[in-house]
Amino acid sequence: MKGARFVGVVLRRPDLRTAFPRRFAARLKGQTVVRLDRRAKYLLAPLSSGDTLLMHLGMSGSFSVARAADASGRAGAHDHVAFHMSSGAIVTFNDPRRFGLMDLLTPRQLIDHPTLSRLGPEPLSAAFDAAALARACRGRKTSLKAALLDQRVVAGLGNIYVSEALHVARLSPQRRASTIATPSGGPRPAAFRLAAAIKQVLGDAMRRRSKARYRSARFRVYDRAGERCLRANCAGVIAQRTQAGRTTYYCPVCQK
Ligand SMILES: [Zn+2]
Repeated sequence: MKGARFVGVVLRRPDLRTAFPRRFAARLKGQTVVRLDRRAKYLLAPLSSGDTLLMHLGMSGSFSVARAADASGRAGAHDHVAFHMSSGAIVTFNDPRRFGLMDLLTPRQLIDHPTLSRLGPEPLSAAFDAAALARACRGRKTSLKAALLDQRVVAGLGNIYVSEALHVARLSPQRRASTIATPSGGPRPAAFRLAAAIKQVLGDAMRRRSKARYRSARFRVYDRAGERCLRANCAGVIAQRTQAGRTTYYCPVCQK
């Protein structure tokens, strides 16, 4: 898509999670994709018109790319959007559960976006470290689990990787978020462990790459309630509880 123009936009339904914006196809057609960015779990494509195409995979969305010459012309059952690019690529968005999202934002809407404008640092960036994490958790009376799911603290972390990172860092999900910071907002040892653990679990997940390996890969705690803790020398059994409407998995023995 990068550097290519939209020559055709096919919408096979009026909505995904929400309705497509008005004149979506017309506003895309003829525009060039300046570059492709990612912020948290959002994909952003700034366009030559100044607008930004915003995309989110939701729970089950995926993009596939075919060459126009090779395309069969038959759309799959859940192929909801197809971008025909001047490069000859046909980029298809497939989403069985339809929690995905596409929107087209003006420069003003991008700046004022209720989610994007408040996102915290990217977890794999240099800007995210123990000091940044401690500053964000300072004085927070919520649990560490809730704080890490708050996209203003750190961007793009979801339920699974928060559980995994807390296990790596040996920190309880119920622990009060403020306890990883000193009263002045400096990082305590727990903040160093947690920041490093977040980078580690995300890095490991990205190295797994393919869906097949992702599915078969065993998480450390996620979805393992009742199983033995994988930490060496820990006799704990993974427990499960609901926190802020989300299921949390943790080891009550080694996570303090
Ligand atoms: Zn354990």
